[in-house]
Amino acid sequence: MIPAQFDYVAPTSVEDALAALAEHGDDAKIIAGGQSLLPVLRMRLNAPETVIDLGRIDSLRGIRDDGDALVIGAMTTHHDVRTSDLVREHAGVIAKATDLLADSQIRHRGTFGGALAHADPAGDLGAGALSLGAEFVIAGSGGTRTVPASEFFVDFFETAIGDDEILTEVRVPKHTGWGSHYEKFVRIVHQWPIVAVAATVRVEGGTIAEARIGLTNMGSTPVRATGVEESLAGAEATEDGVRAAADRAAEGTDPPSDLNGDADYRRHIATVLTRRAVLAAAGA
Ligand SMILES: Cc1cc2nc3c(=O)[nH]c(=O)nc-3n(C[C@H](O)[C@H](O)[C@H](O)COP(=O)(O)OP(=O)(O)OC[C@H]3O[C@@H](n4cnc5c(N)ncnc54)[C@H](O)[C@@H]3O)c2cc1C
Repeated sequence: MIPAQFDYVAPTSVEDALAALAEHGDDAKIIAGGQSLLPVLRMRLNAPETVIDLGRIDSLRGIRDDGDALVIGAMTTHHDVRTSDLVREHAGVIAKATDLLADSQIRHRGTFGGALAHADPAGDLGAGALSLGAEFVIAGSGGTRTVPASEFFVDFFETAIGDDEILTEVRVPKHTGWGSHYEKFVRIVHQWPIVAVAATVRVEGGTIAEARIGLTNMGSTPVRATGVEESLAGAEATEDGVRAAADRAAEGTDPPSDLNGDADYRRHIATVLTRRAVLAAAGA
């Protein structure tokens, strides 16, 4: 289908984009890579009067080293995240999740910030961002504010970004030297996961010293598997050592039931994937 008619503006600065948002209010919609928004417009599930394209704002693009964190601009494409040596070295689980996100065409158009702002609970990037303790920098007419990942994801397709605000960048604390793995379970390659697990672990002498575990599609937002993290601390990095901790993966989750599987099936899959992801991250 063809989208309903809309006006199109392409500002070259965040200030101009915010001014356009303020001018058009509820009738405006931001477009980043368009990989999620355009299908919505084509199906006429949304019909904004004005579309504000962030594609010409150069300051929103790029990845920089900022001491103990990486800063990823909201308009950085999945391809650029995936091929970044900085991301692979300091936030490996994000690079690995991006390896498995959609296909090459979509990774060249879709953006890191767009995917996180879209907040699809089956999106591949939220679990890694949440588990690594990312912070989201959001610009509005009153200046910028920083929101922790634990407060950024609010509900299905809902984040802390206000209607008159723009996500500008995401700060990801470095986990240099930690092992990482993203285990994604799909029926059809290049699709959204039925369930997935983002694991980042620090191993010392064959023992897991610390772990950061995030779950995809196990609730209305990405979920941090804190029970697993607690049980992994001090566990041997072996199949037997990890099993009991991984069995806690479904604690506190509220997975959906759909044609791909019911909630109980997802709870079971989450424990299996968590075990695999942790062992792979630990290099065991
Ligand atoms: C066939 C197909 C397969 C896919 N498979 C996967 C997959 O396996 N895993 C996965 O995770 N994703 C998948 N995707 C989605 C893809 O990752 C998109 O790139 C992503 O969801 C949206 O990024 P975007 O830059 O295209 O955002 P857009 O589509 O442009 O925008 C998405 C939403 O975010 C808002 N938004 C965007 N940027 C900002 C910002 N800076 N500030 C505030 N609001 C903003 C927009 O207003 C819109 O509501 C798939 C998409 C397609 C079409």
